[in-house]
Amino acid sequence: MSLQARIEEVKTRIAAACGRAGRQAEEVQTIAVTKYVSLETTKAVLDEGLQHIGENRWQDVKPKWEALHDRGTWHFIGHLQTNKVKDVIGKFAYIHSLDRMSLAKEIDKQAAALGIQANCLLQVNISGEESKYGLQPEQVMEFASEVSTMKHIHIAGLMTMAPYEAEAEQTRPVFRGLRELRDRLNEQHIFPYALTELSMGMSGDFEVAIEEGATWIRLGTVLVGKEL
Ligand SMILES: *Cc1c(COP(=O)(O)O)cnc(C)c1O
Repeated sequence: MSLQARIEEVKTRIAAACGRAGRQAEEVQTIAVTKYVSLETTKAVLDEGLQHIGENRWQDVKPKWEALHDRGTWHFIGHLQTNKVKDVIGKFAYIHSLDRMSLAKEIDKQAAALGIQANCLLQVNISGEESKYGLQPEQVMEFASEVSTMKHIHIAGLMTMAPYEAEAEQTRPVFRGLRELRDRLNEQHIFPYALTELSMGMSGDFEVAIEEGATWIRLGTVLVGKEL
């Protein structure tokens, strides 16, 4: 299938999921995850009009970012080692994987050095799988309170990953749990602003994530394919 055909098909599926949930298609933004494809294909993705690019390793994205960064909005979606913060800070509009205090402190410090506010999402391990990164749900309130005092971090919302092997429908409680957690953070005014974003849903489960309130879905295989 061509890239164009895949994009059209995904758009149709997004629209259908939005329809089922009574949501507007504009409420859901697609992040094209280009970690499995070449620089050329990443460029083609931007040429097709997709604006959000997601990558998870600085070593791999570096040539793409250097060639194409003025063309889209770049999202860092992978696990971030503390010693790699200085590589990605200021380059990615959003870091989706803030999951521990040592990382928050380093991001705050590096963002301060650049005189910027780093937009981050708190990654939460809702499913409880041991293999997954992310804060435990019960840690989130306290962690968020501490991060809310850091002047150079802005929290845009929450991010999670559902179990890969799960049937799409089994992921629903994971996505619902993330939405409820965001709503609780907002109700308790942990931040002096509302958290709006829910980054959840991948190739195998994005429709369920949309039905449960995703504002950003992160699509690799189903959207841009897999070459590498
Ligand atoms: C790779 C990756 C994706 C996209 O995966 P697909 O299943 O190919 O859509 C989404 N989110 C994260 C964090 C990833 O690492």
